[in-house]
Amino acid sequence: MERVQLADDLSFSRIIHGLWRLNEWNHTPEDTLDLMEYCLELGITTFDHADIYGGFLNEELFGKVLALKPELRSKMELVTKCGIVFKSPRRPQHKSHHYDTSKKHILESVENSLKNLQTDYLDTLLIHRPDPFMDPEQVASAFLELKQAGKVRHFGVSNFKQHQYNMLQSYLDFNLVTNQIELSAYVLENFDDGTVNLCQEKRVTPMAWSPLAGGKVFSSDEEKAKRLRTALTKVAEELGADGIDQVLYAWLLAHPATILPIVGSGKKERIKKAVKALDYKLSLDQWFEILHASMGYEVP
Ligand code: NAP
Repeated sequence: MERVQLADDLSFSRIIHGLWRLNEWNHTPEDTLDLMEYCLELGITTFDHADIYGGFLNEELFGKVLALKPELRSKMELVTKCGIVFKSPRRPQHKSHHYDTSKKHILESVENSLKNLQTDYLDTLLIHRPDPFMDPEQVASAFLELKQAGKVRHFGVSNFKQHQYNMLQSYLDFNLVTNQIELSAYVLENFDDGTVNLCQEKRVTPMAWSPLAGGKVFSSDEEKAKRLRTALTKVAEELGADGIDQVLYAWLLAHPATILPIVGSGKKERIKKAVKALDYKLSLDQWFEILHASMGYEVP
C-alpha cells in the first residue's frame, strides 16, 4: 500500500479506515479485532475516530479490542477529533449541543480519547469543526502542551475553510498536517470553494470523508445520483473495475492533491475493493466525464 508523508515523522496509508459507524455494525470484539487485522494486512494502517462517534462510544469499543492485542498499536496511526459537545448519557456534564475549543475542553477530550482508545499517545488530533467562538490562543496552548507531554504527535483540522485554517495556523509554531473534509464525486463543495486548493497551496494532504457520499450515490433518486451512476457504470466497464464504488475511490485518488479517502464500511469485501481501486488509473476524459455527470453540465 502506498504511503503518504504528512510530516517528517508521520505517514498515513493512502486508504484510511473510518470508525464512525462502528457501533452500527453489530460486531463482537472478535469481529472488530478480525477487521482491524484485516485492514493492517491490506496495508491500511491509519484509523479515523472522533470522540463523539457512536455517541461517545466507538473509541471505547475500538480500545477494548486493541487491548486484546496491544502489539497492534505500534503498527497503526490513530487519528481522533474533538470540539463537538452534545448531550449524552456518556457525558452527563454536557448540557446542550455546541462547540467547545477551549484549552480545558481539548485537554479533557484528549485524556478521554487516550483512556478509551487504551493508548498513551494519539498520532493526530483534529479540531472537528470550525468554531465561531474559537480562541486560537487557547487552541495553540492546548496543542503545545499535548505535544510537549508526548500525548499527541501532530495536529490538524476538519471541515475548515481557507480563512479558518489560516487563522488557526497563524497561532501555531508548527504546521497543521491535514484538513479532513467532505470530498466525493457527489459532493463537490470543497473542490468549488477553494478548500482543496488551500491544501495544495499549503502542501497539506486532505483526508476525504464520505468518499461514497455516505452511500447516497448507490441509492438516491436525485437526478444527480442517477447521472453519476450512469457515468460511473460506463467508466467501471472501461476500466474493468468491480463496481461503481471502485470508480468513486479511483476518481478521488486520481486528483493531484493526493487525497486520502476514508473508507466507512465495516465489510471486508468493500474495504478490499477500496484498496484495489488504487490499481485503476482514470484518464482525464473519464475524470471529467464523472465531474460533468455530477455537475449536470460541462465545464465552460
Ligand atoms: P462512505 O464510504 O461515503 O459511506 C459509507 C456508507 O456507504 C456505509 O453505510 C456503507 O454501508 C455504504 N456503502 C459502502 N459501499 C457500498 C456499496 N457498494 N453499496 C451500497 N452502500 C455502500 O463513508 P462514511 O461512512 O460516510 O465516512 C467515512 C469516514 O469518514 C467515517 O467513518 C469517519 O471516520 C469520517 N467522517 C468524518 C466526518 C468529519 O466531519 N470529519 C464526517 C463524516 C465522516 P456498509 O457499512 O453496509 O458497507
